[in-house]
Amino acid sequence: MNDCLFCKIVNGEIPSEFIFENDDCVAFKDIHPKASTHILIVPKKHISSIADVSYEDAPLLGKLLNYAREIAEKLSLSGYRLSINVGKDGGQEIFHLHIHLMSNS
Ligand code: AMP
Repeated sequence: MNDCLFCKIVNGEIPSEFIFENDDCVAFKDIHPKASTHILIVPKKHISSIADVSYEDAPLLGKLLNYAREIAEKLSLSGYRLSINVGKDGGQEIFHLHIHLMSNS
């Protein structure tokens, strides 16, 4: 999507250091961390929000949770929180689906 910040990061138009990447997603540090580890896991496919997913997206959504686990293992996190903000009233600022992975371990 032309005007989407996270699409630009995914496409390399805006430089970012990926701590994880595969065919489905990229992951990078949140620019305003709210925990000592705060990573964003962002699918390469532009989906605006959980409010816009369909059952066709179920395999991708399932894989994203597994990638979160892989990243947590790679960073040797002993515990972590995953969260997804949905819609303006749910605190969503960037309308490209992403999972926050946060840990103070
Ligand atoms: P949300 O409120 O769930 O949409 O989360 C958006 C997150 O993206 C916020 O935690 C921001 O700090 C983060 N963010 C915004 N711009 C960037 C950027 N250029 N690089 C990394 N994180 C960003």
